[in-house]
Amino acid sequence: MYARPHGSPADLEFRRRYLGPLPGVTEDRHKNVIVRQGQGDDANRVLWSCHTDTVHHHAGRQTIIRTGDTYRLANGSKSSCLGADDTVGVWLLVQLIRRGVPGTYVFHYGEESGGIGSSALAKSDPVWLERFPIAIALDRAGQHDIITHQSCFRTASDAFADSLAVALGQANPVLRYSPSPGVYTDTAEYADIIPECTNLSVGYLGQHSKDETADYAFACQLLEALTVLDVRALKVERDPTVADVEPFWSSWDDHTWRLKDDDHDLPLPRKHAYLTDEYAEVQDSLWLDRYSGYGDRYDQIQEEDRLERAWASLKDYRLTSLREAAARSYHTAPATRLKKRRPALFRGSRLLNWRTH
Ligand SMILES: [Zn+2]
Repeated sequence: MYARPHGSPADLEFRRRYLGPLPGVTEDRHKNVIVRQGQGDDANRVLWSCHTDTVHHHAGRQTIIRTGDTYRLANGSKSSCLGADDTVGVWLLVQLIRRGVPGTYVFHYGEESGGIGSSALAKSDPVWLERFPIAIALDRAGQHDIITHQSCFRTASDAFADSLAVALGQANPVLRYSPSPGVYTDTAEYADIIPECTNLSVGYLGQHSKDETADYAFACQLLEALTVLDVRALKVERDPTVADVEPFWSSWDDHTWRLKDDDHDLPLPRKHAYLTDEYAEVQDSLWLDRYSGYGDRYDQIQEEDRLERAWASLKDYRLTSLREAAARSYHTAPATRLKKRRPALFRGSRLLNWRTH
């Protein structure tokens, strides 16, 4: 497998070898590789996204092993990571293209170096991007997350995330997705242009480390779901011209849905902060109520009463003072007023080396 630091010969060779043969493949001036499939609305409904670079320290080839359905580095490997982030996303996009699934597919350049390809594309071609109501990155650890917040901003509405969780479960009942805050991937760059910008878990764990793994069986289950996903059923509600700032501390534990570190005097997101075990329990039961058992329990998904009661019961846990402080310092405000904050927040997170995706 290729170890592919951004722009390295291995990154470019990997692109030539695996993306070059795709039907109708093009490369934009920012080195993003793009494939469009389907006619009219079909091609313009969803922008599917991944990135071809990895965080390997050195470019080249590495040996990986497969045990059951799990891929990892071979024992004693000197490599710095597996690179499933985001090779799994690349694989999924390639398979969807080969299966003829309509949509627009963007293999981004330089995500791990700060969203080089996506930020350049957002700057140079906003009119081209405006046609898409939805951008879905396949670049998230774990198996459950539909990302609603990136770089401290809301990038997708709860209505969209809920509808995607339901649609994925209907497409493949073994999947269990629910809304979650995230940190950053390429689709964050499109949040001022495209209404619903998210990132989906693709099954890798321990990204950016020697212990990184990829789950082949999970990737196959997700592929089956995405192949038949009813993208027309997805709700589009967010106004991309309004920056909805709901800052949250970024040191999420990606895989248990809990906040790892609450030492920091920062506001928390409105709905998806897991402050306590009780909160997590409620969230689990909400998942069961809302997204599982589509056949005979589909009507229950529409049932909002329990949801409302659950949120009401959590009032005591809300950090009222923090939220009030947040309300004073951050408002829902026109994107233009807040635009300058976004890069600064993002750079800060990179400097502190927080985990991305
Ligand atoms: Zn990634």
